[in-house]
Amino acid sequence: MSDTNNEKVRCLIIGSGPAGYTAAIYASRANLAPVLYEGIQPGGQLTTTTEVENFPGYPEGVTGPQLMEDLKKQAQRFGADIRMGIATATDLSAAPYKVTIDGEKVIETETLIISTGATAKYLGLPDEAKYAGMGVSACATCDGFFYRKKNVAVVGGGDTACEEALYLASLAKQVYLIVRKPYLRASKVMQERVFKAPNITVLFEHNTLGLFGENGVEGAHLVKRKGEPDEELVDIAIDGFFLAIGHKPNSDIFKPWIETDEVGYIKTIDGTPRTKVPGVFAAGDVADPHYRQAITAAGSGCKAAIEAERYLSEHGK
Ligand code: NDP
Repeated sequence: MSDTNNEKVRCLIIGSGPAGYTAAIYASRANLAPVLYEGIQPGGQLTTTTEVENFPGYPEGVTGPQLMEDLKKQAQRFGADIRMGIATATDLSAAPYKVTIDGEKVIETETLIISTGATAKYLGLPDEAKYAGMGVSACATCDGFFYRKKNVAVVGGGDTACEEALYLASLAKQVYLIVRKPYLRASKVMQERVFKAPNITVLFEHNTLGLFGENGVEGAHLVKRKGEPDEELVDIAIDGFFLAIGHKPNSDIFKPWIETDEVGYIKTIDGTPRTKVPGVFAAGDVADPHYRQAITAAGSGCKAAIEAERYLSEHGK
């Protein structure tokens, strides 16, 4: 690798969801001349949703892709250098930190903001892609509102699935919770709430085979007690199909240097985006197993940029 392939920057941001772009807005306005690499999915998870109605400042709502385009333009307006490219390796053993882009170019940076997000897990059924944005969702808080007084299903038996089912139960007519095991993995208190909700039906020992519908989801084909002698095929009529089987934080390339929890969420120092590596910050869903909202990601991106600015001035960089 030649040295001409290397570059030195003061602030490098990896990832282009609300956290990354907000960090870029703040860092560029603070004259840090940030460079942002967009990653595998420019614009992040929100580009796969349709209407966003809960991001403050858009009284009429906004599409996910438009919101991300607006954030990107706002960052570019102040000079953020936004580039296509994927971070493929890191060396955070000592500052300046080294991040390899697309397996070839190495960026040396004084501060690093990790905002690589998390990816919702899907079952892997072809119908999930077929009905993407037409009844299939991995975020009840984002899309639940569109299913007022309708019938929906949530897949999963953990805390997220219970939380999503309870949220949807407050809006929808009927919620089915599709659980592959004969019990819920969620905490007892969440389980009790689910069992008490009059309009949640828990379908234990059910797996999803596929979805059906003409112009969107109209139902799901399920199998009860798959592989057992009393295996049974069951169809349910639903308008929305919500996945809640976990998220995978995109933290793999940072793991040799940065502490993560057992799922892979980056651990930050409580209430801040600071990691244990000085000058390296984590913002948005990659460090947030709990809220996972565009606005909370944006807020943490802002905090990360402010931290980066302070770190640089404290270290005279
Ligand atoms: P979990 O890993 O806890 O649960 C995932 C659920 O999805 C499990 O019930 C699992 O089934 C099921 N599942 C996984 N793959 C499939 C599949 N292919 N088909 C069908 N079902 C599948 O993830 P969560 O997102 O629920 O929670 C992550 C962490 O965040 C947990 O520690 C949780 O406690 C925490 N959390 C806490 C909250 C709170 O305190 N309010 C709210 C939300 C999350 P199985 O049980 O059979 O493996």
